[in-house]
Amino acid sequence: MPQDQNTLIAELQARGMRVTPQRAIIFEVIERLSGHITAEEIFSEVQQINPYISLATVYRTLELLQELNLITPTNLGGSQTHFAMQGHGAHHHLVCQKCGGIEDFSDDLLETLRTQLETRYGFSAQINHFSIFGLCRACRQANPSAQPQAG
Ligand SMILES: [Zn+2]
Ligand SMILES: [Zn+2]
Repeated sequence: MPQDQNTLIAELQARGMRVTPQRAIIFEVIERLSGHITAEEIFSEVQQINPYISLATVYRTLELLQELNLITPTNLGGSQTHFAMQGHGAHHHLVCQKCGGIEDFSDDLLETLRTQLETRYGFSAQINHFSIFGLCRACRQANPSAQPQAG
């Protein structure tokens, strides 16, 4: 990511928070892996740098980063939550239940939904990393009668 000086360490320090050496290692790993990563993936990288950092510490750090709005979680299928850096920008995913393929879709498609939720329900929706499950074009063409799985 070019000219991104806002590292997680700098962000925390700017908010007057202490960055322990363990946290610093976890932050570096998150930034290095980039894209969408799970807690387990972060943990296995962190372990190679410092085997004394526990999975619980990784989870606590991820929670903190979420509270500070620096990372954003989404469900890309499977049992694990995926995280992306907030600076990555608003984006959403179409997740194919058949082939597991993931495609991004543009944030402006959700503008109507946000507006309507506010108008009709007075609800201010925070939809900044959304996943929709179904069947992708290729899978539908391969099997036109296939239906997306419920739930
Ligand atoms: Zn994403
Ligand atoms: Zn597919």
